[in-house]
Amino acid sequence: MNTAKNHGRILIIGAGGVATVAAHKCAQVPEVFREIMIASRTLSRCDAIRDDIKGRYGRDIQTARVDADNVPELAALIGSFGPDAVLNLALPYQDLHIMDACLETGVHYIDTANYEPPDEAHFEYSWQWAYQQRFREKGIMALLGSGFDPGVTNVFTSYAGKHLFDEIHYLDILDCNAGTHGHVFATNFNPEINIREVTQAVRHWEAGNWVETPAIIEEGSVHFGFDYPVAGMKESYLLYHEELESLARNVKGLKRARFWMTFSENYLTHLKVLRNVGLTRIDEVDYEGCKIVPIRFLKALLPEPASLGTQYTGKTVIGNIMSGIKDGETITRYIYNVCDHEEAFKETGTQAIAYTTGVPAMIGSMLVLTGVWRGPGVHNIEQFDSDPFMEALGKYGLPWQVIEHAPLPDRV
Ligand code: NDP
Repeated sequence: MNTAKNHGRILIIGAGGVATVAAHKCAQVPEVFREIMIASRTLSRCDAIRDDIKGRYGRDIQTARVDADNVPELAALIGSFGPDAVLNLALPYQDLHIMDACLETGVHYIDTANYEPPDEAHFEYSWQWAYQQRFREKGIMALLGSGFDPGVTNVFTSYAGKHLFDEIHYLDILDCNAGTHGHVFATNFNPEINIREVTQAVRHWEAGNWVETPAIIEEGSVHFGFDYPVAGMKESYLLYHEELESLARNVKGLKRARFWMTFSENYLTHLKVLRNVGLTRIDEVDYEGCKIVPIRFLKALLPEPASLGTQYTGKTVIGNIMSGIKDGETITRYIYNVCDHEEAFKETGTQAIAYTTGVPAMIGSMLVLTGVWRGPGVHNIEQFDSDPFMEALGKYGLPWQVIEHAPLPDRV
């Protein structure tokens, strides 16, 4: 049972774009995060983040090298630093190992992406939900999906359920990146995870069932032009995204939930070619006597997502359009955030995709560390009170607004 008093200590695992932003944001809130350690596979990346934070805020943070897939090694690091919570910003492959280490040491767990086995391009919550009993018995909590999507989009939904609707019936999450990074082809977060996600068959939730449609690069993919605030008209593709799974379970009365993401023709053309020549394969192939996984080789060739910020201009516009009932009337509301790539870079040295993920990762950690969100067990973020999170979003760099909107069509 975790009865230790809060030390204001956070251990961040991973040192990519998202972890960079989260470390910066934690460093900006010393009254909550009194001690910060960033630990990852490559120590030099942690040290670079530490030096940048020292330069910007004059704060000292600690760094360490750790292989998060090695549970005894990670548990030893947790034991020596003694954090109140571990913020997992490594890759989805590490989720279960980090949860195991948290169980062993009795500290809270927070992440932004659900578990995915390395040898199968498939992600779902069942593996992490299976830790429910063990986390309860240990008296610790796991906060799942504290990024933007999942994360903020889940909280937008729970906020709407609490304040704007008596019942939400139709949910459309729309994720638009209207930025330009100057590279011919790059992904905005880890290329391996990103490409595995967007090349999968699509699913959305409708009338109690999962409805499958072709992947975004296949013939018959579902897409339409949506006129985003600030960004304007962008082609938006139906995509499976993990928050649909938990929201379909946690939002009572939901009849349909869909997720849309903007992609340019250029991005889709590159992705099709890479897929067609076999470079997105996740199985091992023999290359001159070496075993290589093509998608990992591709990742090594592509620009580091954390490095994209230097030339990135434009904005992201991510939010939810929800239709449902309020006081007997059918209403539709759109809650969204606009984030600027250049502003994000100025503040943290990374682009807006990492920024929009790292800020909510810090906020979720803050609410866990301060005990505002509490309760042993494994929880998706929409299961907590939305109000303190929504308030913190505005305060820490991701302001949001609610407007009236026309409902989205049933079929596009
Ligand atoms: P990066 O690839 O930039 O960073 C991942 C980091 O994890 C790297 O520093 C890497 O180390 C480290 N790492 C990988 N394996 C291990 C290991 N075994 N032990 C220790 N460290 C390890 O990824 P991003 O920052 O772009 O993404 C981080 C996470 O955020 C991902 O899980 C991603 O899915 C999630 N995400 C969530 C979003 C949301 O809105 N919810 C949006 C965007 C991302 P090394 O430097 O050695 O490679």
